[in-house]
Amino acid sequence: MKEYEVRCIKCGARFAKEEVVYTCRHCGGLLEIKYDYSEIDAERVVKGAVRGVEGKASEGKARRGVWRFRELLPFAEETAPVTINEGETPLYRCERLAEFVGLETGELWVKHEGLNPSGSFKDRGMTVGVTKAVELGVRGVACASTGNTSASLAIFAARAGLPCYVLLPRGKVALGKVAQAVIHGARVFSLRGNFDDALRVVRALCEEERLYLLNSVNPYRLEGQKTLAFEVAEAFGWQAPDRVVLPVGNAGNISAIFKGFVELKRLGITDSVPKMTGIQAEGAKPVVRAFKEGRAEIVPEEKPETIASAIRIGDPVNAAKALQAIRDSDGVAEAVTDEEITEAQVALARLEGIGVEPASAASVAGLKKLVAEGEGEIEEGEIEKGERVVCVTTGHLLKDPERVIKICEVPTEVDAEVDAVRRQLLKGV
Ligand SMILES: *Cc1c(COP(=O)(O)O)cnc(C)c1O
Ligand SMILES: [Zn+2]
Repeated sequence: MKEYEVRCIKCGARFAKEEVVYTCRHCGGLLEIKYDYSEIDAERVVKGAVRGVEGKASEGKARRGVWRFRELLPFAEETAPVTINEGETPLYRCERLAEFVGLETGELWVKHEGLNPSGSFKDRGMTVGVTKAVELGVRGVACASTGNTSASLAIFAARAGLPCYVLLPRGKVALGKVAQAVIHGARVFSLRGNFDDALRVVRALCEEERLYLLNSVNPYRLEGQKTLAFEVAEAFGWQAPDRVVLPVGNAGNISAIFKGFVELKRLGITDSVPKMTGIQAEGAKPVVRAFKEGRAEIVPEEKPETIASAIRIGDPVNAAKALQAIRDSDGVAEAVTDEEITEAQVALARLEGIGVEPASAASVAGLKKLVAEGEGEIEEGEIEKGERVVCVTTGHLLKDPERVIKICEVPTEVDAEVDAVRRQLLKGV
């Protein structure tokens, strides 16, 4: 069994591995999985990343995707994962998009997490979280969700044969995500309130009803999500890029990816950590405010509003970890308007063939804004043009088709005749 502990990031209190606990019982702080790094063989991490060296998938020892990095996951070697082949998403070099954001002299890459099996990065966390749920022998799993968490959890719960309960803010979840939660058999509740209300309610329910909570406050989920860092470093020959840019909602993913890069450096596998750059929407930016005002804690926003429903969150539960990640890595937090998000969504789609939901496009919109701010004299935290930057696009285009129909030209209706179509076709050519 690999040695690790569950530790409070605020007061250092430790909790037993067998305990079901999400935040510190003493001070309410966030929890983190800590390994005994002196026991981890860096050579094995790098070698283990080579797919399939450890055995066949049919023996429950699959080494694909997230599970290629078992050395840095909190499980015994023989644990059979609950998996749908998550992770190993493409990393695209994007020259035309680099021009769009004004980064011509650097390198822009996009890690398309929308190509995970459920269509978002949430699968990386859920494979670990639900495998832990099975190990703990819980009687069911639950979450609050802006959509993608519920879609992913419903799938993994189906794989594991566990009852799944989901709380969604009424009228605020993109259609594709609701469809996924429903078809995969979750009990879905449409809550009269926003995401922050849903999370408050589900946290209390999980405590009282002994259901396992799989929001990103659960530290095991972040262990899965950190593997994005490993894949990115591996793609660059075990080197960290200069900067990683991603949307921030509940602030789990930015914290997880930072942890992944810190672990690689600590093990001597890489020699730097990228500047973690978190992007929020103008109408929901508590982390950006706290960052700019130099505070360690956020002031929750009562009425978060943006078209990017996946990041429409006013009281991000992982804010303390995220702010630390941004500051420790010399990164920055910035906000973008819904118009800038839409412009970036269309640019990704048309310049690079990368289809993403609005929240994902916030990463590219934010990068563009930061590059523009960095023109001339580079100030602390701003972007230098020669950087190697990775933007994480977190969710797939088809999650939110209604939004696309609103922003794009509708199909032109024509008679079923060649001449009629030709007339339309040649219009404006
Ligand atoms: C969950 C999600 C986010 C936000 O991630 P956090 O970990 O909550 O910050 C961003 N984009 C998409 C598509 C998501 O599903
Ligand atoms: Zn504590």
